[in-house]
Amino acid sequence: MNEVKLSIVIHTEEEFDWSGGFSAKNNQVTHAKELFAMCEDMFAIGCKITFALDYAFVDSEQGQWFIERIKKQYPNDIEFAAHLHPWVTPPLQHEDNEFIEERLSYPGNLSREIEYNKLSVLTEKITEVTGVRPVVYLAGRYGVGQNTHEILSSLGYSIDLSITPFTDYSYQDGPDFSDYDNLPQTISGVTCLTHNAGYISRLDGFSDWLNVAPQNLQRFNKNIFGKVLLKLLGVQRVRLSAEGFSPKQMDLLFQSLSRVGVKHFIYSFHSSTSKLNCSPYSKNEKTHTHFLTNNLAFLKSIPNSVKSLVIDES
Ligand SMILES: [Zn+2]
Repeated sequence: MNEVKLSIVIHTEEEFDWSGGFSAKNNQVTHAKELFAMCEDMFAIGCKITFALDYAFVDSEQGQWFIERIKKQYPNDIEFAAHLHPWVTPPLQHEDNEFIEERLSYPGNLSREIEYNKLSVLTEKITEVTGVRPVVYLAGRYGVGQNTHEILSSLGYSIDLSITPFTDYSYQDGPDFSDYDNLPQTISGVTCLTHNAGYISRLDGFSDWLNVAPQNLQRFNKNIFGKVLLKLLGVQRVRLSAEGFSPKQMDLLFQSLSRVGVKHFIYSFHSSTSKLNCSPYSKNEKTHTHFLTNNLAFLKSIPNSVKSLVIDES
């Protein structure tokens, strides 16, 4: 078995205007063909793919076509996980065309009962359509809350992929992960692997130092000299995703996190980015082509022996 693993996780969901509010009407899936073509290019270079499915995708005609076809053609290279977008998942709390408050778009902000009921319906739906009960979870908008892991545990989930280190969504009522690093942890019996994000800079040692402890960057940001130094050292926060990041940036992050002890990496993007003009990262020809090229370039640089599903049977 390899010491380091990288899993590709696709947020497999409907297309919608990410800044246009959240309603149950946002449930169109028209990108299945483009997603399939993109995945074929990835399988051709040795990738294995985890599809974190949300209710709208699994419930759609195109989504079901995609699941059936990918299962048939690549049975050993895929797995299915669950991805909860509360605004499209029954039991719905609002009228179809009503917009919900942004706070309630994060599943972890729902009452325990509503979060449990929605996750339970989603789990059953995925089991029915894919034939396999999911044990890997990714919260919509990374929105885990105080009840989430206990609920996951009670529904038979063993792995959560929602924590995104060094990232704070509290300005829009989402979770605050500022104090998290990229190492795994266990919460209520659920193993939490992080959606990797961290720092790169001109000096490897400095990047590693920033990535080992969230407080290190905060210390520099407290005064003007620290801020100037961060600029001089070219410090950038990067996600392990071709959505907005280059192969070079992702490679530097991958190398730094490897050095500070991360063993299982999560690389991710959204299914809708596979089709032109279906996500903010594919809104024109140029950004879309960039995304497709950067995705393949980065994944080609990862040895095939490192590419792994989240649940690794080997
Ligand atoms: Zn999502």
